[in-house]
Amino acid sequence: MQLNLHPTGRHFLQIPGPSPVPDRILRAMSLPTIDHRGPEFATLGLNVIAKVKQIFQTQHPVVIYPASGTGAWEAALCNVCSPGDEVLMVETGHFAWLWQKLAARLGLSTEVLALPGTCTETGLPNAWRHGVPAELVEARLKADTGHRIRAVCVVHNETSTGATSDIAAVRRAVDAAGHPALLLVDTISGLASADYQHDAWGVDVTISGSQKGLMLPPGISFNAVSPKALEASKSAQLPKSYWAWDEIIEMNKTGYWPSTPNTNLLYGLHEACDMLLARPLADTFARHQRWAKGVRGAVQAWGLPVQCADPAVYSPVLTGVVTPLGLDADALRKTIHQRFDCSLGTGLGKIKGRMFRIGHLGDCNDLTLIAALAACEMGLKLHGVALAGSGVQAAMDFFSANPAS
Ligand code: PLP
Repeated sequence: MQLNLHPTGRHFLQIPGPSPVPDRILRAMSLPTIDHRGPEFATLGLNVIAKVKQIFQTQHPVVIYPASGTGAWEAALCNVCSPGDEVLMVETGHFAWLWQKLAARLGLSTEVLALPGTCTETGLPNAWRHGVPAELVEARLKADTGHRIRAVCVVHNETSTGATSDIAAVRRAVDAAGHPALLLVDTISGLASADYQHDAWGVDVTISGSQKGLMLPPGISFNAVSPKALEASKSAQLPKSYWAWDEIIEMNKTGYWPSTPNTNLLYGLHEACDMLLARPLADTFARHQRWAKGVRGAVQAWGLPVQCADPAVYSPVLTGVVTPLGLDADALRKTIHQRFDCSLGTGLGKIKGRMFRIGHLGDCNDLTLIAALAACEMGLKLHGVALAGSGVQAAMDFFSANPAS
């Protein structure tokens, strides 16, 4: 098959990450690569680290890895855990599930907590339609009177479903149980799109990545580290070398890394931080909430269920759309891609084929979203779905009536 990377016009990359990279960031990354041990590099390194801390809303170290998000998952666990440690993982979707698999492969004893049952309307697992049930976390920790559980691991924005959990509530649950477990949170797809406060929410390790709200290509990931997590890392026994925080944090004080950092992605990260910090972060979060509302309105106008069944945790980053029984969501995505050059997110794991995902994050605007919704609407009609109404019209009405602030 011939590879065609240059069709006419812009491709509509509407998956929930990697998100479209703004031209401004692409230009920043096109600067010549410099000596990563040279004098200019330290200025770049110190600047990037200082700015990225503002994005995580933390005063504490943020470790930057040349790796995808999966690497930062592993880094978080191997820095604070010892072989055989018990970790409590909350299943909210495919990424929570994958993180659990990774933890088990590292030799940790994983326990999965999940909302029971399946949804009668869609037949989909309830756990994959809701956020983290903080009350279950609290009950489980209270039952752990011997304090064997080393860490509680949750996903903030579950990219496979479109549910954004209340992390402050999970923190309160851990505290209410009087349990010393560390709180590890994956906000790979939440950071810089949904409000996220590493310090104020009392998170011990935050894991994130470059290719979502930060609007960068894949290839950088992060661990934001609380003082308690840093202390825990001193006695944690899982083998670690490349991922070890201590040497990186020490060298970062002078703007350098122990191994070769991905210089050009750091140029991009610097630019992304400048773009994001030019206005209050709250504006960025509100922009995503507004887009999400417009897109959900379209899905509701079609008469299709939104994957996330709890309005309190609807994601500002993406919307999952459940397709009618009998319609393979991947066949629909294929039609939309072939006919309209628009990429939508596939259903993952237990919900593969039952739903697709519309990303509304990063470098979007009302018109890119209306175009993506038009592609979906045309595709659904081509597949013979009897829509209740026009989602495109609903989104146009919503965006017209609710100007961005
Ligand atoms: N966690 C979440 C919530 C994600 O969305 C992803 C990727 O989409 C990952 C983890 C895995 O990250 P990566 O694919 O960058 O390794």
